[in-house]
Amino acid sequence: MFEPKDLVEGVPISYQQPLHTLTTLRAGGSAEMFSVAKTGDELAAAIALAHRRDWPLTILGGGSNMLPSDDGVPGLVVMNLARTIKMLPGDQIFAETGCWIQDVFLFAAQRGLKGLEYAVGIPGTLGGALVSNAGAYRSNVSSVVTELDVVERGERKMTDASIMGFAYRDSVLRKENPPKLGVISVVLQLSAAPRKAILDDARNYQRQRISKQPAPASAGSFFKNVEDFEFAQQFTDLNEGMRANGVVPAGYLIEKAGLKGFRLGGAMLGARHANFILNVGAASAFEIRRLAQYTKGVVEEKFGRRLEEEVLYLGDWSRFTL
Ligand SMILES: Cc1cc2nc3c(=O)[nH]c(=O)nc-3n(C[C@H](O)[C@H](O)[C@H](O)COP(=O)(O)OP(=O)(O)OC[C@H]3O[C@@H](n4cnc5c(N)ncnc54)[C@H](O)[C@@H]3O)c2cc1C
Repeated sequence: MFEPKDLVEGVPISYQQPLHTLTTLRAGGSAEMFSVAKTGDELAAAIALAHRRDWPLTILGGGSNMLPSDDGVPGLVVMNLARTIKMLPGDQIFAETGCWIQDVFLFAAQRGLKGLEYAVGIPGTLGGALVSNAGAYRSNVSSVVTELDVVERGERKMTDASIMGFAYRDSVLRKENPPKLGVISVVLQLSAAPRKAILDDARNYQRQRISKQPAPASAGSFFKNVEDFEFAQQFTDLNEGMRANGVVPAGYLIEKAGLKGFRLGGAMLGARHANFILNVGAASAFEIRRLAQYTKGVVEEKFGRRLEEEVLYLGDWSRFTL
């Protein structure tokens, strides 16, 4: 499927690669330039090339937390297939960022190491998980990351987790003007536990997921939950645990705003889980974003809170209108 047309400083590149088939929302336009990296060194070379030439750079993992614009993504998109994973001493794992996070969990579980049980059912790579500090059931990937192999402004180096600026579903790589930084591999510090207990926990989470998550094309939760203790106390029908932790789920607000199952063209808010935007009829990326904007407007009008996207908009949105 990937047929390079050029070799730029040793990096194979093709042009105008459609991205909709490479994202779980199944929408969006094409990458201006596209490359596939099968090893950590290939990934590092492609990142360094983009940094040197000052090209906009997107590293594509599972495409499960992004919405590329219908008008395309300028610069270089590198598909990350670097998937080496191995044990290190002291209950640590080395994993390249193209590994599926579920595979890293399985690798760990088979060796009696816990810390990634929530990852079962997250259809993305470790790299994408780092960028959004992915997690579930009160755990986040950032809590186990100790060291990273990165390319920063064209230079490959080892660093610690502080470079990522992790917060709830956030890191420096999600900022409006992110630093020139690509992550090649990480070291994860896990802890020993009986294998059966690890797998039981993962199965339990998986069961909860299946009961809530819809099947059609989506990018998982579209918006971040609202973390605000005072705000959470207003909602007397909110689950006790959520209120005690000061968390108001975005899906709860969307449902309360009467938008569950609301449809705009080919895009629809989930009927089971209102915080999922589903592509139910060949929706364009503009349609999906339009539904997201509309949802934010209604929720803000009703509750005075502006939801923030968990999904990342990529590329050129200059022609986007409501
Ligand atoms: C059904 C479903 C369920 C989901 N459940 C959850 C959940 O429970 N919890 C949760 O947190 N998320 C969840 N998600 C969202 C998503 O799967 C996660 O955020 C996942 O970690 C994204 O990984 P990815 O490889 O698909 O990232 P992508 O979408 O490919 O990329 C996301 C961003 O990360 C950047 N990036 C990727 N790799 C690198 C790298 N190596 N270096 C620098 N930047 C990089 C990309 O350029 C992009 O900006 C779910 C999604 C779906 C569809």
